[in-house]
Amino acid sequence: MLRQAAFTGEGKLLKGGLHCHTTRSDGKLSPEETIRYHGQMGYDFLALTDHRNYNFNNYAPESGVLLIPGMEVDGSFQDGGIHCLHTVCIGPEQGKGNGFAQDESPASVRLTEGYKSFQPLIDEIRQKGNLAFYCHPEWSATPTREFESIQGYFGMEIWNSGCAIENGLDTNAAYWDEILMQGKRWWGVAVDDGHAKEHHGKGYVMVKAEKNVPSILSALESGAFYSSCGPEIYDFYVEDGVAHVRCSPVQEIAFRYGRWPCPRVVAEDQPLTHLEYKLPQPFDYVRVTLVDGQGRRAWSNPIFLKDEA
Ligand SMILES: [Zn+2]
Ligand SMILES: [Zn+2]
Repeated sequence: MLRQAAFTGEGKLLKGGLHCHTTRSDGKLSPEETIRYHGQMGYDFLALTDHRNYNFNNYAPESGVLLIPGMEVDGSFQDGGIHCLHTVCIGPEQGKGNGFAQDESPASVRLTEGYKSFQPLIDEIRQKGNLAFYCHPEWSATPTREFESIQGYFGMEIWNSGCAIENGLDTNAAYWDEILMQGKRWWGVAVDDGHAKEHHGKGYVMVKAEKNVPSILSALESGAFYSSCGPEIYDFYVEDGVAHVRCSPVQEIAFRYGRWPCPRVVAEDQPLTHLEYKLPQPFDYVRVTLVDGQGRRAWSNPIFLKDEA
């Protein structure tokens, strides 16, 4: 049996936000307001990832929200318009293996040699003890062939509330299957990229971890989480070639492995709370997507089917 890592072991999943902005860059709310608002929404942890402005500070510790250190960095192609590579980095606490300083501000990269010009910054992020994930591929107007070769990402955004609300972009795992079908093990991350109050609290990760920074970073890196805009996933595993999912009541469940035939099951009289599906042939991976009655999605991370001994 192969069980997705978010659903192994004991303990609850933690709700977290991995990408948002405050008045430390171009966000509308102050750091204090942003953290407090997430506390009110039941978040366990949050990273303030202001543009090119590294942050360790928890500006509202009384909120009960654990602060994950981080920032967002970027590079722009030289062909005019919006065409860029953005990346969120998150890392350990200050003095515990994180090579960045408070307010450290790497320059925006000029991508004169395409993605290759961005690789040194990702390498620096990794050398400084941080994890990195690739941001809003659709909004950046940067197709897979331009970012797939960057080394060092543990994941990519599959939902971005700001892009979804403002532009109708980055709403359902753009390009993720293309990456996965090539055998790259990038995990899918839902974020808000919240710049204003109405963006916050719409897309988040649910992580199987203890409520401390090292445990959360380790769980993210190993894929022990799922992403959601509302629905809850309780279990997801494959046994004897049959995929099983258990979840909060939803209207739609679809298993995905990158190509036809992907089964999509829609609720009839009653909402769906589980589904079993015999996988039609030995695909490399399977993941599951749910849609609830309000149209909100949740996405599991993939189970890699060739891992079964
Ligand atoms: Zn961005
Ligand atoms: Zn952002």
